[in-house]
Amino acid sequence: MIQPSPSSVPAPTPRLSAVPDDRGRFGQFGGTYVPETLVAALRQLEDLYIQVRQDNQFWDRLADLNRSFVGRPTPLYQARGLSRRARAMSKDKDLGAAIWLKREDLAHTGAHKINNTLGQGLLAKKMGKKRIIAETGAGQHGVASATAAAQLGLKCDVYMGSEDVRRQNLNVIRMQMLGARVIPVDSGSRTLKDATNEAMRDWMGSVEHTHYIIGSVVGPHPFPMIVRDFQSVIGRETKAQALRHFGRMPDAIVACVGGGSNAAGIFYPFVDEAMVAMIGVEAGGRDPQPGQHAAPLSHGKPGILHGSLSYVLQNEHGQTADVHSCSAGLDYPGVGPEHSYWKDSGRVRYTAVTDEEALDAFLWCARDEGIIPALETAHAVAMGVRIASEMPKETNLVINLSGRGDKDVSEAARLLGDRVESGS
Ligand SMILES: *Cc1c(COP(=O)(O)O)cnc(C)c1O
Repeated sequence: MIQPSPSSVPAPTPRLSAVPDDRGRFGQFGGTYVPETLVAALRQLEDLYIQVRQDNQFWDRLADLNRSFVGRPTPLYQARGLSRRARAMSKDKDLGAAIWLKREDLAHTGAHKINNTLGQGLLAKKMGKKRIIAETGAGQHGVASATAAAQLGLKCDVYMGSEDVRRQNLNVIRMQMLGARVIPVDSGSRTLKDATNEAMRDWMGSVEHTHYIIGSVVGPHPFPMIVRDFQSVIGRETKAQALRHFGRMPDAIVACVGGGSNAAGIFYPFVDEAMVAMIGVEAGGRDPQPGQHAAPLSHGKPGILHGSLSYVLQNEHGQTADVHSCSAGLDYPGVGPEHSYWKDSGRVRYTAVTDEEALDAFLWCARDEGIIPALETAHAVAMGVRIASEMPKETNLVINLSGRGDKDVSEAARLLGDRVESGS
């Protein structure tokens, strides 16, 4: 009997979901580039999390909070107005996918960020830590952290650049009302990057009794994995709801990418479903010139930022570059390492949408659907409608509606000018 030679046996299809490896790597990306003092804390967190993954009681408690406190599952909603717009945009009458919105704007506090802060708050309690700290830019992650802390009975300190404290005063007041202390940071550009450095510094001295809740799928291992897992509730629900509403997997999924947590949350459960196309949308800002956008996967190079290796926007000296976006939540020079891995493996396609295109889509969503989206989310809507217009009619495209736009109405009104009143 002739044995098949090893080379004639087809190699098993690589499972893209089987990451990170035990060194915290997503392919070449990720890892743990931190000062010595944090290595032990990250190891402790990883060890605990590996246990927690098998702990049904923990996940039951989180599922219960998600139901009764957050309002999950969030609906998968058929966007007939945006679908009509996509059909009108296409030249061919056989084109125009049905558009569905995964309604994270309906989660408590108005965005997906609560999925992560509640999960990490419960982890802090498991470790016996009574204080959490967080960094925040626009204040959305700060509010979600303060909310989780109030719910779980934890003390909460939030680092925020003093420039952001001034610009985002309403969120500062929300955090304070929820019982958190907001600590203004006066170093550097007095924005998110500086607040992150200061939170890291705090944690180096307080790690015995304090847990640091990172706000996206960024930072050193195990944070990108932990945040992805807590946000994956979005994709798991979407899968079940797609089967219920249209009887099969979506043909395409679109999400905006800042640090990448809402996108990772909806993409991850579909990563091994090869027929599902996935598209991440970065902030294209004003134009592709350096400093005018916040699109590291489109224009960056691999480098180290905030403890891990990933695509980063850098200048010619390898220094982190300045960024711009009309939306504060996408205004970050780095991106989670798993997105870099998905980009290089070709599993997810990444594109960018300009400020102007996002503002158009902000109004489309408001006027076609009666849903005012966050400016971050408007980037995904812009690309989602464009892609739907090029897909066959019987297909289904899901846009992750990461958050509501109440926080953005005055900024959007300033940028839109006359168009707010004119209905155009
Ligand atoms: C913070 C935020 C984002 C960007 O963060 P990701 O980690 O990329 O998800 C996107 N949308 C909304 C509504 C946000 O609040």
